[in-house]
Amino acid sequence: MNRELSIVALPGDGIGNEIFNEARKVLNWINNNSHYKLNITEELIGGSSIDASGEPLTNNVLEKLRVTDAILLGAVGGPKWEDLTFDKRPERGLLKIRKELDLFANFRPAIVFDSLASSSSLKPEIINGLDLMIIRELTGGIYFGEPRGVEKLNENNYKGFNTLVYTSEEIRRIASVAFETAQSRSKKLCSVDKANVLESTELWRKVIIEVSKDYPDVELNHMYVDNASMQLVRDPKQFDVIVTTNMFGDILSDCASMLTGSLGMLPSASVGVSTSGKKNAMYEPVHGSAPDISGKSIANPLAMILSVSMMFKYSFEDDNMSNIIIRNVNKVLNNGYRTKDIFTDECKLLSTSDMGDAVIEELKNEKL
Ligand code: NAD
Repeated sequence: MNRELSIVALPGDGIGNEIFNEARKVLNWINNNSHYKLNITEELIGGSSIDASGEPLTNNVLEKLRVTDAILLGAVGGPKWEDLTFDKRPERGLLKIRKELDLFANFRPAIVFDSLASSSSLKPEIINGLDLMIIRELTGGIYFGEPRGVEKLNENNYKGFNTLVYTSEEIRRIASVAFETAQSRSKKLCSVDKANVLESTELWRKVIIEVSKDYPDVELNHMYVDNASMQLVRDPKQFDVIVTTNMFGDILSDCASMLTGSLGMLPSASVGVSTSGKKNAMYEPVHGSAPDISGKSIANPLAMILSVSMMFKYSFEDDNMSNIIIRNVNKVLNNGYRTKDIFTDECKLLSTSDMGDAVIEELKNEKL
């Protein structure tokens, strides 16, 4: 029986369109070769939406996002819009989706594909086989806390301020997601905070410990963020699942991304609560709009394609299709195909579009 689902695609700015075109090939292949009937519509976000309507995300698009089965985003931003006031910038569109759809749990896997071990700046023995999941709280903390702003104190002196705030409820729900994820993996969870200095993360640690009592099979440990950043580079394989605050997660996951060789390889999922049987969720590469390479057809589309794989796992609860996508990305890499960001000697250099085609060529060997 056909499985009919809707996807709203928000390609965005810079390389967003280029990488979305390749993810679209995979979605089309799934439509043509499986029981899925994916209805894909494209909408504007970020700078391209500002150019069309003056807003980084219109309410019209937001309403479509509220009712769709999943959202696939490319990237937003670029120099053209950098001088706009803070509330009009492309990135506000993204923050609005996260807040309005309450996408509080951000999953950022850092997986080292065997054939890319030499692309990492770390020694292969340190990162070989790495499969790490960082779970970042996405709708609270210092990025959203009030009060915030810049105030003039006197002629030559200003005060800039933001507020790091967490409620027990916000911590409790991300903790439950993290413990459940750890249960489905190696049953090890590391919570990262700065409880020795920041009261809000002292509360974070207290609530994590409370929630841990419901998951006695998960081994929990705590780490201060400064130590965690050091340990992530020293011995990343000591971690399996990390849970942390919005800002710490932002920084640690970018650090973890370089363990894998390139930002162009890293997908992410931002998931909210389930309402009436539907889980709000958005899938996007970790990287930005990469204005420095936009329009050159050299961007790596694999993070975007792997984001589609996460969509099948988390929104459509189809681990099989999710694994099919990962397996075939792996095969393409094993065949020595590389975009410029992960290119090493003796590999075959491909354009963005050729990399998408290479994944489709491998998918053609799958029997669904
Ligand atoms: P970036 O991630 O866009 O680029 C950082 C570096 O990584 C660049 O050298 C870029 O060429 C490279 N890179 C990124 N993605 C790549 C890919 N798929 N293939 C090959 N190389 C890739 O970060 P930035 O330069 O700091 O930001 C550029 C713009 O993107 C800014 O406007 C920023 O605000 C925005 N941004 C958006 C998001 C998002 O949409 N989620 C995230 C981060 C940054």
